Amino acid sequence: MRVVDLIIKKRDGGELTSEEIAALVRGFTGGHIPDYQMAAWLMAVIIRGMARAEIAALTDAMLRSGEVVDFSDLPAPKVDKHSTGGVGDKTSLVLAPIVAAAGLYVPMISGRGLGHSGGTLDKLESIPGFNVNLSLSDFRRVLAACGCALIGQTPEIAPADKKIYALRDVTGTVESQALMCASIMSKKLAEGCESLVLDVKTGSGAFMQKEDDAVSLAGLMVETGRAMGRQTMALITDMNEPLGRWVGNALEIRECIEIMQNRPAEKRLRDICIELSAWMLKLGGRARSVEDGRALAGEMLRSGKALAKFKEIIKLQGGDPAVCDDVARLPQARHKADVTSPASGHIAEIDCRSVGIASCVIGGGREKKDDVIDPAVGFEIHAGLLDPVEKGQPLATIHYNADARLADARDLLARAYRIAPGPAAAQRPALIKRVIE
Ligand code: URA
Repeated sequence: MRVVDLIIKKRDGGELTSEEIAALVRGFTGGHIPDYQMAAWLMAVIIRGMARAEIAALTDAMLRSGEVVDFSDLPAPKVDKHSTGGVGDKTSLVLAPIVAAAGLYVPMISGRGLGHSGGTLDKLESIPGFNVNLSLSDFRRVLAACGCALIGQTPEIAPADKKIYALRDVTGTVESQALMCASIMSKKLAEGCESLVLDVKTGSGAFMQKEDDAVSLAGLMVETGRAMGRQTMALITDMNEPLGRWVGNALEIRECIEIMQNRPAEKRLRDICIELSAWMLKLGGRARSVEDGRALAGEMLRSGKALAKFKEIIKLQGGDPAVCDDVARLPQARHKADVTSPASGHIAEIDCRSVGIASCVIGGGREKKDDVIDPAVGFEIHAGLLDPVEKGQPLATIHYNADARLADARDLLARAYRIAPGPAAAQRPALIKRVIE
């Protein structure tokens, strides 16, 4: 079977067999198929889509590219959550400690930044010393010791996704329901969790901009998870503006620590952390209802148990737990520059994707596969959707180290905001749009 024939078959709208898909995944993971051929096939998938049977075959092939972990010897349920990615989306870093502090195991395999969206691994690596590249045996050791481990794909777990994900990030091949489903579910099904909460984002900063697309992706993933014997549910959540007040790797870690320190937090971010935790606690049997789950999650924050758990995780993964007491130990950018409102009125629209791209441009994300991230850079977001603003008022503050692309980032940010005259008439979009059980 020639790879070029598989590319042509998909390019022309054909349906690949499961053997063909398995061969493609095996060949690419084993280094026998070059990046350019895989990238061409991925682009054909973006344009032509995949049938259900092809998606199942791709998920299965990616899952089987490595080990499927068995944590059944651990004495409590294992739960995880996965987000389809957004701008300022840092919920994993708060909910994993909450849920582990409440007595469930959270074996979490996360990704790096993808396209304009940030990645949990890149954020965690801004904590000095934090090692996301644990071996499978260390993953198990940390999980057993403290109830949570936060790692990236290991060579053992879903290695196909690691390679394909890195290629998609830089070849414009992220926005495909089929590829997202296979990427997310192969990792999640391999990591040994029994229950999975999916946070499927929709809006200008999400890969699924239209709510209907988010709903169909969520349905696809819930169906895939259940077919593989895992309790799976999804929340469709809003991504029409950055989540929280900060965008950028170390800046977002700081924001998470501040939530766990019970300092004033941006409401939408705190609410979504509580909501996702509540569902995880319910699926894992620690809460009888979502309402009980919310109360338990809130208690884990208020009591300081979530923060104590985060410290434990950081310590066990080689990081500096003192960042939890002193956020100034996190990397900090040398310079700041404001982006101000060109007019008075209200924020009628935020092109959240442009905010994410601006963060990559300033060094917070990758534009090429081997780009090195600057953990310190990012933005403080001063105003959200529908907030009133005065002409000259800062909309965002850029934290940066190198001038080279400051003008580009500033321009992207300035153009991301549409200011309309007068007060806002509409309501802010609901944070949780739908629950898919
Ligand atoms: N997150 C993933 O893990 N994979 C995707 O394809 C998109 C978001």
